Amino acid sequence: MKSQQGILEAAGELLRQHHVFLISSHLRLDCDGLAGELALAHVLEALGKQAHIVNPGPMARVFRFLPGSERVMLASDTSERPSDLGALVILDCPDLSRLGDVAALLPGGLPLLNVDHHPDNTSFGTVNLADAGASSTCELLWRVIRANRLPLPPEAATNLYAGILSDTGRFCFSNTTAEALSVAAQLVRLGADPLAVGHHLYEDFLLGQLRLWADVVGTIDVALAGRVAVAVITQGMLGRQSVSGEDTQDFAEVPRMVSGVEVGVLLRELSEGRVKVSLRSRGPVDVNVMAARLGGGGHQNAAGVVLSGTLSEVRRRVLAVVEEGLAGSAGSGREKEARG
Ligand code: 5GP
Ligand code: MN
Repeated sequence: MKSQQGILEAAGELLRQHHVFLISSHLRLDCDGLAGELALAHVLEALGKQAHIVNPGPMARVFRFLPGSERVMLASDTSERPSDLGALVILDCPDLSRLGDVAALLPGGLPLLNVDHHPDNTSFGTVNLADAGASSTCELLWRVIRANRLPLPPEAATNLYAGILSDTGRFCFSNTTAEALSVAAQLVRLGADPLAVGHHLYEDFLLGQLRLWADVVGTIDVALAGRVAVAVITQGMLGRQSVSGEDTQDFAEVPRMVSGVEVGVLLRELSEGRVKVSLRSRGPVDVNVMAARLGGGGHQNAAGVVLSGTLSEVRRRVLAVVEEGLAGSAGSGREKEARG
């Protein structure tokens, strides 16, 4: 097996060798995936190359400030593949099934660079930089850029900073490593704009979004003797505040904020009898295992899945799996606290 240094060099070689790139990321795009795409596009352009960003779904309104976001295309609006494609880059995506409509657009036989920090990445690329120890895909892209002495314009630095800030929950989650903080500091030194990123990601709500936040807080209730908190977003709640589903990204953090709660669950009603489930935990409680049991995936402290059924059916199913998962999790936060 190649060392990470060898993989970083292979990634750099792939980027230097080709001229036209297609970059994509996962369904229900988050800031790490999108900002990584934009950062890489800026780096490739600084090298005199072309980058096409094609995504399986729309981006949240708050991400529009990210430098270069106006160039992002949707797979459903892209009938033809960009011509002269030399290579593909897939970011923050554990397997190709998470690419939605983009999968059908990918020509076979092209070199594919896979950069991801999900623990269950299936190494579907020609070059696979998959490291679950990294805070974010943007931190991995930083490693590629540094190891290969690639140019890093300030627009790319701002995007990488946004991806790291967002995936670490503003440097609050368990992936807030010394390395993540150190990379963020270096990015600011290289021209990343932390004020703009902080403002746009966390202090620029539409009034309806903020009111929806209050509505969602109002739905929180606790289960399993206070170990789990559940919040709900119905289609009616979205409609009343004129907010789209994409614009509720950080709402998944809300139920876990209840003191003493080990697993936070957000259930968001989609169309056609489906429900988006977001699971959040602290420390050793592994919601990725719980999401996987329901057919989804993610990370230890943040995972998700889409299930069919009514809100109450899905709630029952999810709570049963969470209860089983908590019973099996020896080192829960609460027990740890009790042990001091
Ligand atoms: P969120 O709850 O914010 O949608 O997602 C949290 C994490 O779980 C992200 O890393 C995301 O990629 C992953 N995730 C969310 N939904 C799904 C899903 O349906 N399938 C899989 N495999 N992962 C998901
Ligand atoms: Mn990520």
